[in-house]
Amino acid sequence: MEGKGEAPAIGIDLGTTYTCVGVWQHNRVEIIANDQGNRTTPSCVAFTDTLRLVGDAAKNQAAMNPTNTVFGAKRLIGRKFNDISYLVDISWTFKVIPGPGNKPIIVVTFKGEEKHYVAEEISSMVLIKAKEIAEAYLGSTVKNAVVTVPAYFNDSQRQATKDAGLIAGLNVMRIVSEPTAAAIAYGLDKKATSAGGKNVLIFDLGGGTFDVSLLTIEEGTFEVKATAGDTLLGGEDFDNRMLKHFVQEFKTKHEMDISGNPRALRRLRTACERAKRTLSFTTVASIEIDCLYNGVDFYSRISRARFEELNMDLFKKCTELVRKCLRDAYMDKNSVHDVVLVGGSTRIPKVQQLLQDFFNGKELCKSINPDEAVAYGAAVQAVILSGEGNDKVQDLVLLDVTPLSLGVEILGGVMSVVIPKNTKIPCEKEEIYITVVDNQTCALINVYEGEGTKVSDNNLLGKFTLSGIPPAPKGVSRVNVCFSIDVNSILKVTAEEKTTGCKKKITIKNTKSRLNLRSLKLKMGTIRRRLKQKNPW
Ligand code: AMP
Repeated sequence: MEGKGEAPAIGIDLGTTYTCVGVWQHNRVEIIANDQGNRTTPSCVAFTDTLRLVGDAAKNQAAMNPTNTVFGAKRLIGRKFNDISYLVDISWTFKVIPGPGNKPIIVVTFKGEEKHYVAEEISSMVLIKAKEIAEAYLGSTVKNAVVTVPAYFNDSQRQATKDAGLIAGLNVMRIVSEPTAAAIAYGLDKKATSAGGKNVLIFDLGGGTFDVSLLTIEEGTFEVKATAGDTLLGGEDFDNRMLKHFVQEFKTKHEMDISGNPRALRRLRTACERAKRTLSFTTVASIEIDCLYNGVDFYSRISRARFEELNMDLFKKCTELVRKCLRDAYMDKNSVHDVVLVGGSTRIPKVQQLLQDFFNGKELCKSINPDEAVAYGAAVQAVILSGEGNDKVQDLVLLDVTPLSLGVEILGGVMSVVIPKNTKIPCEKEEIYITVVDNQTCALINVYEGEGTKVSDNNLLGKFTLSGIPPAPKGVSRVNVCFSIDVNSILKVTAEEKTTGCKKKITIKNTKSRLNLRSLKLKMGTIRRRLKQKNPW
């Protein structure tokens, strides 16, 4: 329960490009504007000779201080340096190096000194900003928050996001998936309870990422049926297409190439983004930049039709990914009850039209500002969890489920499922395994997620070795393996040899060193599952 003078729990959509804060007040969700009057705040942190800047202030000086301006920390959070190679396509303006445990480290110069930060620390600075925005509005200290993450975030990314909250001095009451939050914002869970199950497609097209999620909501339970998307597709690509178009036009008109001039490109890109936004509401937008290059002004216009033409392949790619998501979920598009728009780029009329056409003219859920729908749902969830809401929200119970089966590797590289897919969380399950070679003194526990019967088809989440098993003939020693998942979908695995009580525990880390693992296993032997029901003890 909250103490006196303490603000209500808030909901935070910690986005890749923007962050949005909501709170339940006066019987509804308020999206809180920041000190600049903006309802979303850039997820951007900058370091200067004298100051650390977060949000609009950081973004506004980015062009002058690119190497010390960090954006998109969410792309790095909870990942290994090896796993972020796909990001080479993004021209990071700041330096990222591998650190201890292969964690990506962000290198900047702050107050004249080189500083190293992990992504959690950068995200915590954005969360502090979110906390301050809420505190300025509410006039009291904010302690509790619900923070959202993409549905595909694994355990390590969720844990790291929670850690970012802790560093920011927040009690993260729950980590909620973004599509789940968006569905809550539209009250689709309530409708599902009163009228049977509902299939909801969340179409989230932001500044730098595109996510499609298919949820089935039944009696307050959210099941992620499938996700698809492109972590490198978003509004910035549409800006870039328009930029290219105008660079070409400038070349043709003035016989000058501005593509080698970062300042001119930056100014033109900003103008393109503005024109793109305008084109969502009018059919023509103009670009007016004085002294763009070599003292030459640039004045031009672009029609909505031309903008659509420039981006049609990207727009169509979005629809293709919707098709893929449905295919992965084995669901026909006619079985989708609601389609929800999330992310600023879903304001683009052509994007809406293609999606609506795909769903045979179905009305799209777009009444909530698409930049705010996730924070809106997070704020609803926050008030439910803090027990402060009225009847309007009290009947909402949010249950999440595991999107993939979780288990350990047993003899023959077989996946032994401990927690099946779609188990309601939080949950805890235990399985008993026996040794497979005589005098086996240690057991390697390889933890996987996935639906393959062979672990080679699944995703390795982590591994550890339980040693100290007393030597005995094979099949005699028993190891109890316990999986527990908390409300934030964070997995802890414990292995215990009961007679000696020797125990080992891990919070899963993502590792890709499968080859090393195999050779290790040969040396140590492995464990074999014995089904509990066949086992009276
Ligand atoms: P998000 O990350 O969800 O906040 O999305 C931000 C992206 O939405 C940026 O690329 C913006 O340029 C884009 N955006 C915002 N408003 C509009 C609009 N009216 N029309 C087109 N794109 C927009």
